Amino acid sequence: MEYSILEDVVKNIWKKEKNTCYTNSMRYSKLFAKTIKNAPKDEMAINAKLLIRAGFIDKVMAGVYTMLPLGLCVIKKIENIIREKMNAIGGQEIFMPTFQPKENWTKTGRWDSMDDLYKVEDTSHREMALGPTHEEVVVPLMQKFINSYKDFPFYVYQFQNKFRMELRSKSGILRGREFMMKDLYSFHLTEDDLDKYYEKVSDSYKKIFEKVGIGDRTYKTYASGGSFSKYSHEYQTVTPAGEDTIHICSKCGLAINEEIKNEVDACLSCKGTDFKKEKAIEVGNIFKLNTKYTDPFGFRITNEKGEHKEVLMGCYGLGLSRLMGTIVEIYHDEKGIVWPDAVAPYKVYLIAVGVKKEISEKADRFYDELEKKNIEVLYDDRDVSVGQKFADADLIGLPIRLVVSEKTGDKIEWKKRNEEKTELLDKEEVFRRLG
Ligand SMILES: [Zn+2]
Repeated sequence: MEYSILEDVVKNIWKKEKNTCYTNSMRYSKLFAKTIKNAPKDEMAINAKLLIRAGFIDKVMAGVYTMLPLGLCVIKKIENIIREKMNAIGGQEIFMPTFQPKENWTKTGRWDSMDDLYKVEDTSHREMALGPTHEEVVVPLMQKFINSYKDFPFYVYQFQNKFRMELRSKSGILRGREFMMKDLYSFHLTEDDLDKYYEKVSDSYKKIFEKVGIGDRTYKTYASGGSFSKYSHEYQTVTPAGEDTIHICSKCGLAINEEIKNEVDACLSCKGTDFKKEKAIEVGNIFKLNTKYTDPFGFRITNEKGEHKEVLMGCYGLGLSRLMGTIVEIYHDEKGIVWPDAVAPYKVYLIAVGVKKEISEKADRFYDELEKKNIEVLYDDRDVSVGQKFADADLIGLPIRLVVSEKTGDKIEWKKRNEEKTELLDKEEVFRRLG
């Protein structure tokens, strides 16, 4: 595949940039959204309970949440990891609207067939859909700009809030009524080309799941492909919080979803018949749509031989807020969240222990040094008990806790969130490890 120069430039910018939040460093006293004692009583899901208590999200109503600064930072980090991979496979980023015209949805038949579509009407009785997906916008958009077979293939993607009418919303940010997604759409003139790109996206997804820390338990799972291809794939992450069930072949590790399991007796790959049943969360999916959405809009192209060719399409989704919730379901203990490095909002939680002025001054100076070295740090400079600072450090779950106190003298106490042991280190050693 060929990339344009612009795509190369974009790729390189992302490579060079460190994946950080808007701010590299933050004093906890200045952060408006802090930890709270109790999650709302009606909140059942572990992911939402912990994220609410730790001050990452706020519940507005069932299935609808505000991303607070720490939560948005996690989302932005996940977004950047995905964006880098999408750019690397030629994706061009766009941003399509939430409001979508009814006419387009009538054309594809989904205005009536999609049960969980939110429909809104304004005072002039104009009806619109709140987008749960964007085929109805992206196909006419591409049709406007792409006139020649020479332009193919091409790929566009976006990060957008999607809406789905969930009647029961009790899984926290795993299943929201409004949620954040990345959706990529690819357009091709031959099946072979679509097949190749489908595999390319599949490889990217594998890298994304590895990077955010769920690679070892996320399965590319065979799912029904509808009427246009035999199979599609769901990406299912194994956790007890999952609402889906997948079946993993004991012999070769291939996974199939419940629907496919009802249709086949043996493993699609090795023909083995012994399956392990697991609860899982669907964090992404990839589909070959073929002409399902290009046909209704009459999107056709004249090829070099003067023949009218159908335009084939693939779509590839990844749930950002759902990924964040899944990570919390997997990475937590009884004290709080345990963020994997790549998506933690900050790397270090710095605590000053003691009321003496010299201690707080020492911690302030150390904070300045961390800032200068571009180490992401959340500095708990509040006037609260030591017990609360330590409890909040565990609840918020940043990878490294550093303590400055009278007891530590010239040294700094180092502790990883996922380990029990503490070490007293020289400042230089701390910087070296955080390098
Ligand atoms: Zn097998």
